[in-house]
Amino acid sequence: MAFPPGISGVLSINLSALRRNYRAMAALAPGATIAGVVKANGYGLGAEAVALALSREGCRQFFVAHLDEAIALKTCLPPDATIFVLNGLQPGSEGAAAAGGIVPVINSVGQLARWAQVATASGRILPAALQIDTGMARLGLAPDDLDGLELPPQVDIGLVLSHLASADEPGNGQSEAQLAVFERVTARFAGIPVSLANSAGALRHARFHKTVIRAGIALYGMAPSERVVGLDIAVIQTRAVPAGTAIGYGGSFVAPQAMRLATLAAGYADGLPRALSNCGAVFFEGERLPIVGRVSMDSVMVDIGRLGPGALVEGSLVQLIGPDQSLEAVALAANTIPYEILTRLGSRYHRVLL
Ligand SMILES: *Cc1c(COP(=O)(O)O)cnc(C)c1O
Repeated sequence: MAFPPGISGVLSINLSALRRNYRAMAALAPGATIAGVVKANGYGLGAEAVALALSREGCRQFFVAHLDEAIALKTCLPPDATIFVLNGLQPGSEGAAAAGGIVPVINSVGQLARWAQVATASGRILPAALQIDTGMARLGLAPDDLDGLELPPQVDIGLVLSHLASADEPGNGQSEAQLAVFERVTARFAGIPVSLANSAGALRHARFHKTVIRAGIALYGMAPSERVVGLDIAVIQTRAVPAGTAIGYGGSFVAPQAMRLATLAAGYADGLPRALSNCGAVFFEGERLPIVGRVSMDSVMVDIGRLGPGALVEGSLVQLIGPDQSLEAVALAANTIPYEILTRLGSRYHRVLL
């Protein structure tokens, strides 16, 4: 594939794989509807491209974090798509949410009252989702808030949801405890769709599937799903240095012997965690090339001693994420999670949609 000159790297986003991951999730949970979670610019991949790809698979429910994200997406999705705003209904945003046809996830009794007011004032029945905090202490009404709460008839609650705090930890019983609370509080919402599972919840057990699964990371290629993202970074200089050479900011790595190095055109401003300093690696033709010295803002050095002289030249591409090194492996090396790697992917790469 020919790329434009001077690019810092190639970020490839395999939308076909994303669509297969959506289908796989649907097959795993045949009784449930699969909603796409496309917050944070579609986990860094591009919200519009991702949401459109999912809509081609029949996805009609989308979750974002903020009203702005919802309004931006609304125009590019089919008119029958529903966009939920997970972070709730912020004071002053009610009019824009109502006018934009956005469905707020109501997270407090106060938000419910304000949404009901807007509905009354406009003479409409407004749609909403209702979030219950079943044990994460992040967002949503406490189960006690529901006791004696009268649901305003001008608010049409089309979904009741909660979020699991520890679904990705197999031995952790918190999910089962949350499920019990969720089933108790949703008993009063007979006939209304309910949603508890994110990706890990859906993979954990069918008990968590409920009516709607809110799938994020499993669509974006975290194992066991098919890989969606590839990232190759351009070499911008190579050099040979003698033993004793201090490499990078602070001289945190000193060459123990003569070395050959390549400088790559991406740094922490492009989402390469600074925590990869002196511990991460890239790959070239199957060879592991360790990062030496600190990750800079726009560049990073790697040890290319295992490659033959001339194997890498200015403009060569080396792999950070791909067949030789998974997203999970990069996250692990940086002591973080794949979500953080994806959502911080920089905007300076040449993006290729497959
Ligand atoms: C981000 C988020 C999801 C998606 O989680 P994944 O682990 O990426 O599947 C689902 N529900 C809520 C409330 C979220 O905040």
